[in-house]
Order: sequence, then structure tokens, then C-alpha cells
Amino acid sequence: MDVELAALTKRYGHTTAVDGIDLKIRSGSYCCLLGPSGCGKSTTLRMIAGHETVSSGDVVIGPKAVGDLPPAQRGTAMMFQSYALFPHLNCRDNVAFGLKMRGMAKAERHRRADAMLALVQMDRLAERLPAQLSGGQQQRVALARALVTGPKVLLLDEPLSALDPFLRVRMRTELKRIQTDLGITFVHVTHSQEEAMALSDLVVVMNGGRIEQAADPRTVFERPATAFVARFIGGHNVIALPDRRIAVRADRMLLGPEAGPEAVPAQVVAVEYQGSAVHVGLDAPGLDTDAATPLTAILSDHAFARRPLALGDTVRVGWQADEAHRLEA
Ligand code: ADP
Repeated sequence: MDVELAALTKRYGHTTAVDGIDLKIRSGSYCCLLGPSGCGKSTTLRMIAGHETVSSGDVVIGPKAVGDLPPAQRGTAMMFQSYALFPHLNCRDNVAFGLKMRGMAKAERHRRADAMLALVQMDRLAERLPAQLSGGQQQRVALARALVTGPKVLLLDEPLSALDPFLRVRMRTELKRIQTDLGITFVHVTHSQEEAMALSDLVVVMNGGRIEQAADPRTVFERPATAFVARFIGGHNVIALPDRRIAVRADRMLLGPEAGPEAVPAQVVAVEYQGSAVHVGLDAPGLDTDAATPLTAILSDHAFARRPLALGDTVRVGWQADEAHRLEA
């Protein structure tokens, strides 16, 4: 189902955690709420779930404003960072628990629980207790438990952050597959831009309780709306020109003779080998860049090998006019 947030606001005393956000998430899409710690992602998610009251504004799920409904009547389910499985119940009974609460007969709830365990590839371990499972396996069970009641919208709060990096990438692929298979709306909170880029149909970049940009990953990367988005997404240089502020992708920076007539001289202050690419840090006194993030050019390993650079070298740096993307003030 569609999820719509209308001027949604949450205040805690003098703190405005979520500041009048408007957002439309299309039915069946994978939406990530992305931003630094404290920007209001979890509060937004909890208001959609009904675990947090709304100060003003509204949450609309499908055709219905749900602001006054309890969590169980919203058609949503939530999956938490801590899996919170019942330790004394095996996987099947953990997954079937919500159905038992609804008074479903044992045979039917076991059938449905087993189907969900198969979806998350945990059917072989249905008899095991949580303590007999790895973190990644517990997480799959938690996912099955969230999905078994047939929610129209699944809400996930940092679901991958407790996993090791390898497992995180694998589980990410699984989440996307399951979302695509089921065709339901996922709203996923993360502070990882890589995770948001990999999963989303819609990336919502938040900052200070507001939405900086909501768009598909490619648009967010190729046309960041604000300096904040360009910095947070990474891979961009944010440069203040005399009449405007721009973002230029680091992999579009031009060095040396190709840099063009407008190029300025720069000194190489860092060279980082990254396998397929080399990141070259530059100090260009003629450019007004972000003090916190030095000017960076990303070169392919081939391009770097053709004309290697070392610390202290002086090189001209520029970009093609159509690679300069204008940012909102
Ligand atoms: P995020 O999920 O992006 O890290 P949160 O939504 O958890 O951010 O928090 C947003 C802001 O609201 C933060 O400034 C946080 O300190 C504040 N906040 C969150 N929950 C509460 C609460 N229960 N009481 C007071 N302030 C809170």
C-alpha cells in the first residue's frame, strides 16, 4: 500500500525530532530513510508504525489516515535491530506466535510459519531454539515473524547494523529479493548510504528532522539537491564558486593536460590505492572547497598508471562544464 506522510511532526519538549515532513512512498516500493544519527529517521518510522504518537500532521496508509489507530490495525509490521525472539520457543513457534495470538488453529499457523521460514531459507532449522542460531539466522527468523501476519508495509529499523560486513551484504540481497517476491512496501531506516543506494527505489535523505531530498538512488547520486546530500552520499566535491555552489563527482574530475583552460593548480596531498580506482586528495588554493572534506579526484587504476602522481606533485585540476551540478542554497 501507499504510505503518505503529511506535514508529519514530532516534538519532544523543546526538541523537534521530525519537522513537518511530506513524503509519498508508492505501494510496492523499497524506501530507505537515510541520514546521520539523530536526524529523525527512527522517530519517523515509529510514527508510521504507531509506536510513537504524532505531534501534528498525519500518516496515511493506503486510503486511510492511521494516526489514531493502534499498531496492530495499521497493516504494518516492524522488524527491529535487536531480533527479540522468544528464547524458549523454537523458530516455527516464534514465527507462528502472532498468529496464535489471533486465535489461528495450530495446523494452519504452522503451515504459514513454515512457508515464511522457507521464504527466508530457514525451513531446515524450524525446530531450533534461538540460542542455537547465528545472528544472521536469528535475523531471518525475525524477518519471517514480521512477515507472517501478511503486513502491507514492513518497517525495518537498522535491520542490518548488527551483522558483520559480509553477512550484511548477503542479507541486503535477501531483503531486496523478499521485498520483490512479496511486492509489499518496505520502509527501511539506515545511516549507510551504500545500503540505501543498493536497496532503494526511493532514497529519502534526512537532516535535522527534515527531508533534504527524496528521489531514486541514481538521481540522488547524479543530481544531489543540496550540499548536505552531496557530502552525505559521498563521491562528490562541493565547491563554492563566486556566483554559485556546485557539486562535481570525484570520478569526473580532470587532472593534468585534460583539465582544460579553466583548470587551477593543485598540490597532491593524498594518494590512496583502492584496487580498481585510485583516490587522489588535492589542495587547490584557488578553489573554495569544504574544509572538512578535501578535494578528491577518483581515477581508474589505468588512468593513474598512465600518469602516476606522488605526494607533493603539482597538477592542474578542472572539470567539464556539464559535470558541474548546481546545488540549492
Ligand atoms: P535517528 O533515528 O535518525 O538516529 P531519532 O529519530 O532517534 O534519530 O531521534 C531524532 C531526535 O529526537 C534526536 O535529537 C533524539 O535525541 C530525539 N529523541 C528521540 N527520541 C526521543 C525521546 N523519546 N525523548 C526525547 N528526545 C528524543
